[in-house]
Amino acid sequence: MTNTTMDSLQQVQKLDERISELEEAIRAFEPQLAEIEEPALALESELASIEKRLAEMQADTRRLDRNADDKRARIKKLEERLNKVQNLREEAAVRTELDLVRKAVDADEQEALQLMGETQRAEQEAEELREKAEAARAEVEPSQEALMAERQALEEELEALEAQRQALLEDVGDRERKVYDSFHNSGRSVVVAALLPDGACGHCFGVVPLQVQNEIRHSSAVIRCEACGVILSADLETGGDDEADSETGEG
Ligand SMILES: [Zn+2]
Repeated sequence: MTNTTMDSLQQVQKLDERISELEEAIRAFEPQLAEIEEPALALESELASIEKRLAEMQADTRRLDRNADDKRARIKKLEERLNKVQNLREEAAVRTELDLVRKAVDADEQEALQLMGETQRAEQEAEELREKAEAARAEVEPSQEALMAERQALEEELEALEAQRQALLEDVGDRERKVYDSFHNSGRSVVVAALLPDGACGHCFGVVPLQVQNEIRHSSAVIRCEACGVILSADLETGGDDEADSETGEG
């Protein structure tokens, strides 16, 4: 494996670390956004149920009005008939029916009155809720927008990193890319590591057999640490930046 390939893979590995941090940070916004919105949503759903009840009451009111109109028309007819009755028996029958219909109209009016009171109370309740819901919504918006802007920034960073990753991988051989991807996809965060100058694996610090060290230093094959499986290269930074300066001698 060439040095450039190993460098590229190591860069991809760094990008992948940052990418997975970013993905986690982006996911963390969901519950946060939901929590922030919660009070406004609760008020809005309460308001929606009152508005539904109001609509039902208005439908009931219209139904009562229609019934009352029908009954008043009936009363009018009966009153006209009362003027044309031929005998007492007929008159008594008409008066009995008139009486019944008038009582029914009274009952409807009582019901309509009661409904009107309930409707007014519900309208007042809805009005108060509407104000509270609007206030809650207005209060939520700035923090929601701030959070979404924050998330947006992370998403843009993520997108840029993924493009960089893609570009780096295009320069890497198929075989190396496949090895890297299969390691990475299996959940490993470290896929490539340096062979330390003292012959230890830069990831697990297990000592690599001399012969293998030589192969790593002098051949272009993909060689993995027998202990932890990372791909080893002799020409990578050793990871911890401070250590790299003090421990990595040249040659
Ligand atoms: Zn190792």
